[in-house]
Amino acid sequence: MTILDHIKLDIPEDIGKDFLNKLMGGRLNLQMEKLLKEKRKICTQNIYPKAVYEEFEIEKVKGESVYFKSGNVFNGPNISKILTGSEIAIIFIFTLGNKIDQIIKEKNKSGDTLATIVIDALTTSMLITLGEYIGDIIRKEGIKDENWGSTCTYSPGQFKWTIEEQKKIFDMVEASKIGVKLNKSFLMVPFKSLSGVNGFGPKDKIDKTRVACDICPRQNCISRR
Ligand code: SF4
Repeated sequence: MTILDHIKLDIPEDIGKDFLNKLMGGRLNLQMEKLLKEKRKICTQNIYPKAVYEEFEIEKVKGESVYFKSGNVFNGPNISKILTGSEIAIIFIFTLGNKIDQIIKEKNKSGDTLATIVIDALTTSMLITLGEYIGDIIRKEGIKDENWGSTCTYSPGQFKWTIEEQKKIFDMVEASKIGVKLNKSFLMVPFKSLSGVNGFGPKDKIDKTRVACDICPRQNCISRR
């Protein structure tokens, strides 16, 4: 198991702008741009990015189930498709910490809806930036050979991988080491956290799906890549 603490993220000056613009249907106005600049500082000062991940050997993929040598099993048509051909998988969880959750909760309670939306957009974008940072590290570790490659990342809650399978991720990776837990609805707390899996194996055998969005029917999703 690897734990990454005190991660120093390189956060772009205009972080959150694209996301908020899409969220507002392309109608980002000057007031929002001003708020973005103002709240960026508060957000960057209150994120505590951490990650934990672990490598597992895949025994076999049969039907819609992925069997790991550790005895863990993932179930779902898409996750089994994604991991077919992979020899190992790296399971990860990362988070921005609980301070941001508190700030969003307090802003929401104060009735300042616009500031809540802006902070949410900023921190969602920061979580994506953290994901890219962790993804680079995981891919370097998982690609064992020049002929190997990585699958796309897939997460419980994405299309046809039930959110209940989040429990399996938590059985495999010690989320408590970075202060993340599951609530009764299988959602992670802090909410600005993400979990998922990447498969690795010979380039000619692993699944070629570019990104999870390619097999997702949510055409109007603002996070679509
Ligand atoms: S389209 Fe949206 S919901 Fe679907 S996988 Fe992509 S980001 Fe997730």
